[in-house]
Amino acid sequence: MSAARFIDASHSGLPVDEVDFVIVGSGAGGGAAARILAASGARVVVLEEGPHIDARTLGTNAGASMARLFRAGGKQAAFGRATTPILQGACVGGTTFVNSAIVWRLPEKILHHWHERFGLADGLPQRALDDAATIIEDELSARPVVEGVTSNRQDLLLRTGANAIGVEGRFIHRYEKGCRGSSRCLHGCPHEAKQSTAVTSLRRAAADGAHVVAHVRVRKIERKGGRAVAVTGRIGGDGPEAGQPFRLAARRAVIVAGGVIQSSNLLWRSGARMAHLGRHFMSHPGTAVMGLYPARVDAWTGASQGYEAFGMRDTLGVKFESINVPPEVTAARLPGAGARFAERLAELPYVANWSVALRADAEGSIRPSLWFGDLVRYDLVPHDLERLRDAMRTLASMHFAAGAREVLTGVSGLPETLRSPDELELFARAPLDPRAYSLIMTHLFGGCRAGRDPSTSVVDPTLKVHGVDGLYVMDASVFPTNTGVNPQHSIMSVATVAATRLAG
Ligand SMILES: Cc1cc2nc3c(=O)[nH]c(=O)nc-3n(C[C@H](O)[C@H](O)[C@H](O)COP(=O)(O)OP(=O)(O)OC[C@H]3O[C@@H](n4cnc5c(N)ncnc54)[C@H](O)[C@@H]3O)c2cc1C
Repeated sequence: MSAARFIDASHSGLPVDEVDFVIVGSGAGGGAAARILAASGARVVVLEEGPHIDARTLGTNAGASMARLFRAGGKQAAFGRATTPILQGACVGGTTFVNSAIVWRLPEKILHHWHERFGLADGLPQRALDDAATIIEDELSARPVVEGVTSNRQDLLLRTGANAIGVEGRFIHRYEKGCRGSSRCLHGCPHEAKQSTAVTSLRRAAADGAHVVAHVRVRKIERKGGRAVAVTGRIGGDGPEAGQPFRLAARRAVIVAGGVIQSSNLLWRSGARMAHLGRHFMSHPGTAVMGLYPARVDAWTGASQGYEAFGMRDTLGVKFESINVPPEVTAARLPGAGARFAERLAELPYVANWSVALRADAEGSIRPSLWFGDLVRYDLVPHDLERLRDAMRTLASMHFAAGAREVLTGVSGLPETLRSPDELELFARAPLDPRAYSLIMTHLFGGCRAGRDPSTSVVDPTLKVHGVDGLYVMDASVFPTNTGVNPQHSIMSVATVAATRLAG
């Protein structure tokens, strides 16, 4: 019954032309909103630009999977002094389909700041968010990685290194049911063990009567008399309906949950012109420091991310995590070329790969562009680069404390490797230039920020677009700041609270 409600528009077109709620996007925000609204008895359609993929059929070629699952095949980037890759999922389940399933509640301190500075206390009360978070943890089976079962050796090394220098940490809590530790979250879990919205919230919504329609790109939101009444766009994919235009009317509301970048650009293309639309783009840019160990690490087994050291979140604004991914993905970060690279490749089984995610102060902007589709401008500020440098030094010191015989710095302008803790001070000389670092952005925020004051925000505390009835944004673009923790759980909690209010 519910499977029949997952539809590929490319082959069968849209199943209806009018519903109560149209939800644009099927990721963290869209999935959570669909779950609540469908359960309320309303007629709901979720429209997703990307395909509906059964990850069990994807095979083991990481590059081919990424090309199918990620926006622009994984080749999206932000432009500034440096060009920084941005990863976003574009398939049913959105980025939750390709992420590492790490669970973190929205920190109380951050929510308090949102209440005080942006007036969000009525729309997003602590109690309602806590209740939503508890339900989501249950429905998505949040549980910690288990030592010796889904942990990998490098998770234990990170724990040793973090303990040695007194940084608090834990085995990562993840949304999973029956994880077999195949380290393939990034390419869609081959065993459906990862509890993305594709296999949880959207299936529940479908069981309650919602349609989840793949290969539908919403281009515009239609308004009539100050109210959102429909969405229009084109069907994608390569089936017989591909290229056909469509219009889907929304009796009660249109909910935009296309993710940061796409949501603000959808509002812009639909004629919205608030002063802060597309502004305050924020992120947790990340990079990695690798350690070369005397014994095998095999950082392609275990849960895709097994251990996190979070004790420097409030001081330096950083969080450290181990990364278990297929060998070809880690290999892409190895230094050197030609014969030197081949030597490094032979050492891959001995490499531990630890990341740092930085709660950056920088704010960028988002706009549609003729040439780039979605143009993101973003530049880290000097304070961000100083903290990044300190964080990388800390990671390097953890590697040495855990027994690494070499640390691969990954910074242009520093030696390729450090061989002893005495060399850690070299990090103080790393350039304060973003081009020197291999950064990537996976946690994105802003563009349609929430706030009480319509002159400085895009949506109000209930996530309704200021001045437009029946139009809501329920994804990470409404976050008025970044959070310093992995965002999926916060996004789902915020969308759940807003959708519950909307459902009445
Ligand atoms: C590699 C990676 C690992 C990550 N790991 C974690 C983690 O472990 N834990 C965590 O908390 N967070 C993680 N994140 C981040 C987290 O997954 C995202 O922050 C979150 O999914 C964003 O939710 P969203 O609803 O804003 O957007 P998304 O989940 O990105 O969903 C948006 C969806 O809308 C669709 N869409 C966009 N525009 C349109 C349109 N016009 N018409 C139709 N459909 C449209 C998109 O194709 C997409 O499927 C990770 C991210 C990445 C890239």
